[in-house]
Amino acid sequence: YLTNQERWESNARSYPRRIPIAIREASGIHVTDIEGNVHYDCLAGAGTLALGHNHPAVIEAIKKTLDGKYPLHTLDLTTPIKDEFVEELFSLLPSHFSSRAKIQFCGPTGADAIEAALKLVKTSTGKRSLLSFHGGYHGMTHGALSLTGNKGPKEHVPGLMSDVHFLPYPYSYRCPFGLGGDLGAEVGSRFIQRTLDDPENGIVSPAGMILEVVQGEGGAVPAPDDWLRDIRTITRDRGIPLIIDEVQTGFGRTGQWFAFEHAGIVPDVLILSKAIGGSLPLSVMVYDKDLDNWSPGAHSGTFRGNQMAMAAGIATIRTIRQERLDKHAAQMGERFFRHFAQIGERSISIGDVRGRGLMIGVEIIDTSRDPDLLGSYPAHPELARKIQQECMKRKLIVELGGRHGSVVRFLPPLIITPEQVDEVCSRFADAVEAAEK
Ligand code: PMP
Repeated sequence: YLTNQERWESNARSYPRRIPIAIREASGIHVTDIEGNVHYDCLAGAGTLALGHNHPAVIEAIKKTLDGKYPLHTLDLTTPIKDEFVEELFSLLPSHFSSRAKIQFCGPTGADAIEAALKLVKTSTGKRSLLSFHGGYHGMTHGALSLTGNKGPKEHVPGLMSDVHFLPYPYSYRCPFGLGGDLGAEVGSRFIQRTLDDPENGIVSPAGMILEVVQGEGGAVPAPDDWLRDIRTITRDRGIPLIIDEVQTGFGRTGQWFAFEHAGIVPDVLILSKAIGGSLPLSVMVYDKDLDNWSPGAHSGTFRGNQMAMAAGIATIRTIRQERLDKHAAQMGERFFRHFAQIGERSISIGDVRGRGLMIGVEIIDTSRDPDLLGSYPAHPELARKIQQECMKRKLIVELGGRHGSVVRFLPPLIITPEQVDEVCSRFADAVEAAEK
């Protein structure tokens, strides 16, 4: 299998390079490769598999749509499943948002919904420039990539959207203001305010601002609640639609249904994908009705009515609700943090552990070099890569992220048990020790 992949698959292939296994079976947090090895999957479809692989509620819901009579492809026409899906989704949203909200089905991927959001805010405001954040990630399509803060994936693509202004994200470990923590965040929001108000910067009334509440691919970096509230005030005062990208953070992963709830704010545009389709492809945009002044047919696309994905999404939402998996995610996240604190005491290469709920990043640093003025050591992507390889040897699948590729990311399914957290952390501790040798 792997030889064929290397021979025929695009040079742009990504995950198989670092996770060189062929998966035959999957259940819960586990995947079994073709040699029969059972791995702990803490990548879980890049955060898609909230209920893990093949959860019975999801399988049952999908099977129900396969009765041979039910339509599988309906463009975006109305169906009972779609109706139920919208009702379930809206029941999760804060009422002062849902009572003013509209929904647009966007297509299979997160990036599809990002593209829709760009069009929506540009059409609605009649403006063209956008505000985004360093370290942010919004997808690989042309528009979404233009908004992505990391240079890596975009530096070889000429002519991306140029009307995007990148602002500093409150990444406290390496705060661009030389200040960490809440103080850094406060300075950060003031800096943003001044940047927007200074005509010299050329940011003349943007069409919108997009952000992740916890930067996922950027290395599990959570924005402080105060900073988020400041940003909400700044955007509201200036009439800038705030687009919150919850493609990765949505549906309980951070310990709340949606990560923006931690700060008690609401977006103008909410982008959802990954877990919303209960393992199958689906993305939607939910937005304030005041922005809904684009014309009929202004946004369409063939594959926006995936009935199986909607049925799987309904089952996912109901299971999270019944089993309080959002609260469980918060508790399991704390358990991870306790383990990582102990591992950090024994390791010289763990610089920072951060995240929210079951979205956690461990930043690997090079202590053989000099620290910066803040006392933070340089990123160590080579060692992070070695740790990932040592994790693979111990049948633990984790992914790397962060601005320098030096953050080991944990995105396990929300159904992870305390014992499984302990086992994952024990394997990770061994992997770190082996890689440091
Ligand atoms: N936004 C965020 C926050 C994401 O994490 C991702 C995917 N990792 C995307 C957008 C893009 O989603 P997709 O890969 O489905 O296009």
